[in-house]
Amino acid sequence: MDSVTPERRSWIMSRIRGRDTKPETLVRKRIFAAGWRFRVCDRRFPGRPDVVVASARTIIDVRGCFWHRHGCATSTMPKSNVAFWMEKWSKNVRRDMRNEESWRKEGWNLIIVWECALGGQMRERTLQRICAALDAWAGEIASGARRRHPHRLVLPRTI
Ligand SMILES: [Zn+2]
Repeated sequence: MDSVTPERRSWIMSRIRGRDTKPETLVRKRIFAAGWRFRVCDRRFPGRPDVVVASARTIIDVRGCFWHRHGCATSTMPKSNVAFWMEKWSKNVRRDMRNEESWRKEGWNLIIVWECALGGQMRERTLQRICAALDAWAGEIASGARRRHPHRLVLPRTI
């Protein structure tokens, strides 16, 4: 019989996976390998976005599904302290919306990467899509194309 609770097991697994497979790290490593240079947790922007790729005028916001309420299978509902969690989540979600609005107002393209898009089978496709978006958007800038609204890409596209 299994003596470890599911919560405990998931904590243990997260320790085993370690730092290098953190969602932000996966994204950073891949785009760096693809030749992109970027700033990390840039204080010049509200919310200190995870990755800022100035040459593609793009912010990449990697969001944990549980903390930011993606609504996928990973964003489970805890069994206790529900009121506390609801309060915490609504703050996170409101802050995400505020940050996004101010980045976009300044003309920054945005890629929102939900943690679940970086798991298992979806990971490779997600990383490819990020690189493809950066290529396309940097290409636009280079060609002098002007856009009325910045790009916004959400991965995964559907839950
Ligand atoms: Zn998710």
